[in-house]
Amino acid sequence: MRLSRYFLPVLKETPSEAQIVSHRLMLRAGMIKQAAAGIYSWLPLGYKVLRNIEKIVHEEQQRAGHIPLLMPTLQPADLWRESGRYDDYGEEMLRVRDRQDRDLLYGPTNEEMITDIFRSHVGSYKELPLTLYHIQWKFRDEMRPRFGVMRGREFLMKDGYTFDLTKEDALHAYNRHLVSYLRTYERMGLQAIPMRADSGPIGGDDTHEFLVLAETGESEVFYDSEITELKFGDRTIDYDSVEQCQAVLEEFTSRYARTDETHDAAEFAKVPEARRRTARGIEVGQIFFFGTKYSESMGATVQDADGNKVPVQMGSHGIGVSRLMGAIIEASHDDKGIIWPEGVTPFHCGIVNLKQGDSAADAACEGLYAALTAKGLEPLYDDRKERAGGKFATMDLIGLPWRITVGPRGLAAGVVELTSRRTGESEEMTPEAAIDRVAQIYAGK
Ligand code: ATP
Ligand code: MG
Repeated sequence: MRLSRYFLPVLKETPSEAQIVSHRLMLRAGMIKQAAAGIYSWLPLGYKVLRNIEKIVHEEQQRAGHIPLLMPTLQPADLWRESGRYDDYGEEMLRVRDRQDRDLLYGPTNEEMITDIFRSHVGSYKELPLTLYHIQWKFRDEMRPRFGVMRGREFLMKDGYTFDLTKEDALHAYNRHLVSYLRTYERMGLQAIPMRADSGPIGGDDTHEFLVLAETGESEVFYDSEITELKFGDRTIDYDSVEQCQAVLEEFTSRYARTDETHDAAEFAKVPEARRRTARGIEVGQIFFFGTKYSESMGATVQDADGNKVPVQMGSHGIGVSRLMGAIIEASHDDKGIIWPEGVTPFHCGIVNLKQGDSAADAACEGLYAALTAKGLEPLYDDRKERAGGKFATMDLIGLPWRITVGPRGLAAGVVELTSRRTGESEEMTPEAAIDRVAQIYAGK
């Protein structure tokens, strides 16, 4: 993309309505525009990152064997009357009436709808296990929408639903989700710690929330600092293996890590004092096992091997796709702007032409642009007739992890400069070497 042709409405001023850094930076970098409280338009740069986050979520869900589908945002109230949640959910639910006087709602989550799909089409244990998921907009009329996309009213969520014959199988599905979530967050450059949590209005027995540590997080968390040393890394795992998934769950949940809702001071006191940490965290996902709560109330049964009809065992598993963008920025920025992890960056690298209109500089930039594109990468070429300082400030603000700077003086010596946004370190090299280096960085990402 050439910046002169792109739509990147960066703001010079720091918007006063934004209280936290991720919200400020998303507004300044022209990523979002508020339409109403807690409701945003995703401008091109923000939309690109959102799609990248979504792509990682899809890939990791499918790697774990989960099946994508898409359910609507509007749901009939009658389904929620069956489970009893139409009245229970309270004011967070946006209720709508259509011209035929039928009650609808904008889905805050999809347990009822997926249970309805399941009961309409599945009747036998032979069709289990089954995990269906979608990535769809949700609406919750939050009392205090704030912090930009972090606590929106309309937000994008991955919600997946597991169906199993036995509790044992359902717990494997739960563990499998925990493992796939660890991989998902790490690919986005985040450390998200699974913490024992409270099940809230969805109800259930087993549940973990995934928290990214950040001062601006809304949850208070208590943990053993050893847990921050754990990495999932690029280990291979067989998602069908009960033992392997169980082992990962044990590894990542055996140390003390809880949110304030389930915090137990006496248990916490058993952690050696030097490792006891109290901090704040952003909830970027949650996994639940809740058994037969919906399948019993909504009649979702399957026939077991003996021909008995039994309610199916269920779990639901969410990832805050749009909130993740805020969480990534909270975890990765400096005073100049955002620093995107390579896994989600909107463009792979920036090209800054120090002297637009200089024929050698223009030709070198065009050459870099074409070569990077040919390697399947997407560069953002700042081809505007602007001062170099302004170009650097824009690149730093929007946070591309790599920048190639091209100027007549360097070119005379046969070099361009490759700069890391994270470390600020620059290295001179030939244009060919810069192309190879950038391609190498993104190989396999
Ligand atoms: P919270 O406690 O933050 O209100 P929740 O526990 O009600 O969230 P879940 O039902 O577990 O949310 O939804 C799954 C994920 O969706 C959450 O882990 C979070 O990342 C995201 N999410 C929930 N509410 C919002 C919101 N208002 N804006 C953006 N993302 C949200
Ligand atoms: Mg939650």
